[in-house]
Amino acid sequence: MYNLILFGPPGSGKGTQADLLVQEFGFLHISTGDMFRYELKNETELGKEARKYMDRGDLVPDEVTIAMLRKRVEANPDVTGIIFDGFPRTDPQAAALNDLMESMGQQINALILLDVDEDEVVRRIIGRGKTSGRADDKNEDTIRQRYENFVNYTTPVYAYYDELGLSHTVDGMQSIEEVAASVREIVKPAE
Ligand code: AMP
Repeated sequence: MYNLILFGPPGSGKGTQADLLVQEFGFLHISTGDMFRYELKNETELGKEARKYMDRGDLVPDEVTIAMLRKRVEANPDVTGIIFDGFPRTDPQAAALNDLMESMGQQINALILLDVDEDEVVRRIIGRGKTSGRADDKNEDTIRQRYENFVNYTTPVYAYYDELGLSHTVDGMQSIEEVAASVREIVKPAE
């Protein structure tokens, strides 16, 4: 398996790049944000719990997020690789992912940070909010809160994988095609 973490603030293009990698390699794409939105739409207990945090731009508690992620990974044992999009977002999530990979005899192969500055994040998400229907994409304060949570809670995860020699940075301010080309230079699944 080839297991990749697509990393970066909200609006950095993780979902777009994940779609391109899925087309090329057929990997399983797991976006914890998409999973929460699915639960929310279906008004499940998990969705109701997650909404309280999502609407404010805060992170859903680790236990809830980790349990949901683990279930999804374990339900797909035969995939050629997984793209983790929006997970792990905290050190405990990174540790839990490590344990999960180990229990499967697997490992994370790379983490790629799509580096985009705060004003560009706000600009992109306000644009996306016009069509995405996402409550958390409409309000500038919520968007800035999400960016701040990324800086405070999520950036340490980069260092965690950097110590393992697995972290890479790509300039996320480039065009979609340029970012894709940079990402492709890093992603090297076994033939
Ligand atoms: P995203 O689509 O990745 O921007 O996620 C939307 C929202 O879902 C976030 O602002 C969080 O409230 C929640 N969320 C998604 N992934 C995680 C995660 N790994 N840990 C905690 N909260 C998450």
